[in-house]
Amino acid sequence: MGNEKKEIVPKERVRVLVDRAPNSEGDYILYWMTGARRTTWNYALDRALELASELGKPLLVLEAIRLDYRWASDRFHRFVLQGMAENQRRFSAHQVAYYPFVETQVGEGKGLLRALADSACVVVTDDAPVFFLPALLRGAVSRLRTRLEAVDSNGLLPMREAPKAFARAYDFRRFLQKSLGPWLSQSPCEDALSRLPTRPLVSLPAACTKRWPPATSALLEAGPLALGRLPLEHSVGPVKYAGGSTTAEQRLEGFLNAGFGHYAEGRNRLSSGDSSGLSGYLHFGHISAHEIFRKLAQREAWSPDMLGECTKGKREGWWGMGENSEAFLDQLVTWRELGFNNAVLGANSSSYSSIPEWARVSLELHSGDARPYRYDLATLEQAGTHDDLWNAAQEQLRQQGTIHNYLRMLWGKKILHWSRSPEEAFEIMVELNNKYAMDGRDPNSDSGILWTLGKFDRAWGPERPVFGKVRYMTSENTRKKLGVGPYIAEWLGPRLDSLLP
Ligand SMILES: Cc1cc2nc3c(=O)[nH]c(=O)nc-3n(C[C@H](O)[C@H](O)[C@H](O)COP(=O)(O)OP(=O)(O)OC[C@H]3O[C@@H](n4cnc5c(N)ncnc54)[C@H](O)[C@@H]3O)c2cc1C
Repeated sequence: MGNEKKEIVPKERVRVLVDRAPNSEGDYILYWMTGARRTTWNYALDRALELASELGKPLLVLEAIRLDYRWASDRFHRFVLQGMAENQRRFSAHQVAYYPFVETQVGEGKGLLRALADSACVVVTDDAPVFFLPALLRGAVSRLRTRLEAVDSNGLLPMREAPKAFARAYDFRRFLQKSLGPWLSQSPCEDALSRLPTRPLVSLPAACTKRWPPATSALLEAGPLALGRLPLEHSVGPVKYAGGSTTAEQRLEGFLNAGFGHYAEGRNRLSSGDSSGLSGYLHFGHISAHEIFRKLAQREAWSPDMLGECTKGKREGWWGMGENSEAFLDQLVTWRELGFNNAVLGANSSSYSSIPEWARVSLELHSGDARPYRYDLATLEQAGTHDDLWNAAQEQLRQQGTIHNYLRMLWGKKILHWSRSPEEAFEIMVELNNKYAMDGRDPNSDSGILWTLGKFDRAWGPERPVFGKVRYMTSENTRKKLGVGPYIAEWLGPRLDSLLP
């Protein structure tokens, strides 16, 4: 027992998808980085380094981006490319071979993974139930002849440790309070590249680089010229903030130092900085939930023995931290991981049919109700409604790639109110959220959008037109609750000015 080797990566996080022995004749361990696009706090990287060390082989990291994903635009491409430029710097500082591949024509990358895998001992990749990644992984399983392991680095709880898909946040929270404790003392390495040096790979495989040339620095810089040459949706332009782990870490530091003192009530205020602004970085894997949790726990001088004993699903009290930290962790852990839980264990978790029966029946019953206003996708997309608060939220989404936390709920509820049917509202939300939001195309896009239609919620009374028993929200009440003037001026300013005589 005493001599048992301790795994660096818990076995509950590793899925062997091509079950073959490692190819000892291979030239390297290939880490195919798809979901956790970072060099730190990354279980898949830890696993690849562990194998490299065990087999005495170098590590090769492939990070690629294709062109034919839905909603591909300058906005998302630039964010990912900036992250890749940074990963290249970080890997090269540790003499780890890094292969950045950026398609310049649709389909150009076809065959690269297989070609690299054929010379690998083992392929390690990310197990992320995000957007098209599960389909990509299924494709790899059918094509690769080399051992393939997929590693779950998504959240504090290994996704497949949950017994089922939870239908309510309350039930999931209760489950976490009973089961998460032991997982909180484990995390991926903060700086695995320094801890586990591997033999460097002298050069990238020449046969591959000839056919699939690695991205140039100019392309990774993602300036307007480089992006302009790629067949992307150019009308969805880059945002003002940069992608990559350094910006994400700075944002986290800034948030913990400044905004954090009033998160519990500040999250629903309209000033910026009262929430972390990390969801886009989490979505693209530029920061890890483990890093966020550890840094927060350090500030709180927290240790696992401070966890509360009451496991009845209450929002406050279980973590044994201050009010703001507990409120933040309820979002970062309970709500975020509920999305992953449903994505992996739920049936059709991204479809309208996954809303609960009571909500579907009630919305159906009210589908013939008169709508006070009706807007189509084009009008909504252009922020052209009668409601300037809603228009301001839509403008923030178009320009900044995010919507303020509270207004995002109102944004969705009003789309339900103004669409011909709840199914149409769902499709409009998916289109707008995923086309513009930096954190879109995520398990939590499904959670958030479907929440506006009753998922993860309970029935509310009295029944209202259009909403039925689904929780309703109004712009009027939101105006009363929040001081919306400066927010509207910020996002509609130029438009309002043009209306002045
Ligand atoms: C209609 C609608 C659509 C949404 N679409 C998305 C989406 O596409 N992607 C997305 O990540 N979130 C989505 N959400 C949830 C939530 O709005 C965002 O996660 C949050 O606004 C992100 O801002 P932040 O990083 O400053 O959050 P913070 O308040 O700082 O929270 C920290 C982290 O916790 C997680 N989190 C916070 N709130 C939620 C929530 N309600 N559900 C799940 N996780 C949460 C996020 O990862 C977030 O980064 C949506 C909500 C609604 C109502």
